[in-house]
Amino acid sequence: MPKKRTVIAVGVAALALLGAGTSTVAANGQLPLVNRTAKGKVDQLGGAARLRGDQSRLIKESIKRTHARNVILFIGDGMGDSEITVARNYLEGAGGAFKGIDALPLTGNLTHYSVQKDTGKPDYTPDSASTGTAWSTGVKTYDNAISVDRHGKAFPTLLEQAKRSGMATGDVTTSEIQDATPAVEVSHISQRSCYGPVATTKTCPEAAKENGGRGSISEQLLTTRPDVTLGGGSTTFAETATAGAWKGKTLEQQAKERGYNYLTAKQDLAKVTSADQKKPLLGLFAPGNLPVKFAPLLATTNGAALPAQSCQPEPTFSQVPDLKTMTSKSIDLLSKNKAGKKNGFFLQVESASIDKKDHAADACGQIGETQQLDEAVTKALDFARRDGHTLVIVTADHAHTSQIVDGTTPGLTVNLATKEGSNMIVSYGTAPAGGSQQHTGTQLRVAGYGPGAGNLVGLIDQTDLHFIIGNTVNRR
Ligand code: MG
Ligand code: ZN
Repeated sequence: MPKKRTVIAVGVAALALLGAGTSTVAANGQLPLVNRTAKGKVDQLGGAARLRGDQSRLIKESIKRTHARNVILFIGDGMGDSEITVARNYLEGAGGAFKGIDALPLTGNLTHYSVQKDTGKPDYTPDSASTGTAWSTGVKTYDNAISVDRHGKAFPTLLEQAKRSGMATGDVTTSEIQDATPAVEVSHISQRSCYGPVATTKTCPEAAKENGGRGSISEQLLTTRPDVTLGGGSTTFAETATAGAWKGKTLEQQAKERGYNYLTAKQDLAKVTSADQKKPLLGLFAPGNLPVKFAPLLATTNGAALPAQSCQPEPTFSQVPDLKTMTSKSIDLLSKNKAGKKNGFFLQVESASIDKKDHAADACGQIGETQQLDEAVTKALDFARRDGHTLVIVTADHAHTSQIVDGTTPGLTVNLATKEGSNMIVSYGTAPAGGSQQHTGTQLRVAGYGPGAGNLVGLIDQTDLHFIIGNTVNRR
């Protein structure tokens, strides 16, 4: 595109050009998305460049509206910049771009430390509990804490605030629904492991029902009552309440008696046509975490020296709904129920096993989960573009181990054949073979689309997300 033309072009046509390739600003005022694929052949002058003309106009359009009606918050668990790059190189190529994750026009960086329980001093490698608590409640806390501060004080979560504001709410994940990231929206407890009554009696006695507490994470979830809750984790629902109105009954029985539409089969999700406070949807599609898209490909001590490999499908993946299906379903149900129509909705969506497979030095596992997140974001952006009043945020809770390296390292490596026919060596160097690779502490990308997304630009802290989303969900 000749530069001069881009500069003088005006209105919709200019935005179409600046929105770059796939996206245009339609007559109905849809905000622009960006296409950041390389412009040409990456070995030719300008071919690897991603920017198409001057984008000032695009940025201006992107910050025109400030107040969102709906918020969809996407979390890639353990999705540091390194994990995004590994997945992009493998799936889309070095000059490629994700249609979802990379299409959001406004980007910033998040700091994401936690604090030590006894001193309040920073802990530079937080876990998913403290980081989730940071955006959910706005308070820094210790690792393992679920929406309580280091003194044990509970603070309202985004989902609770949204409910209080009369909004529809949803909590979606590919992990067990009791895992830290989904748990921070629906519960307050001292230790993330307190999934059900059994663990709570032992590890979180302050919350145990028999001691007059709020109950386990699963029991609190039933009380918080989002309109839509989807993920894995049915095992815990076979546990029995120790006290209270449902004493002696399993949590599954309790859910059903409290009016939940309790599902465990993939095919039943498609049949659901409504979800609200009268009949909330609780879909638990696996006993534990949901299977991931690709079969394991583990890094090994000499993996860099082996021939490059490709990721293969994981056969059990087709037995559960994928993240884009759960996301689309949730958006559909929440935007159409009475509360959603009247007051908007808040939906948190997590792709959980980027982290879990990174811990296992399983490159293909983490790549498939990143792809799932991208596909789910694409669905949300489709909705947000049509709707015009939806803020979509894509970020991570903490960084992780995987690094793109040049050859054999003292750690574990794996050699991957990328989409464009190059080899990419990925290293896992924070634990020995067979151990659990560690979280890392680098700042995280945060990207936004829609009203209010301008607040994400620049350096912010993870707790800022609470107050940025709070502009929508905290209305009283
Ligand atoms: Mg998680
Ligand atoms: Zn982890």
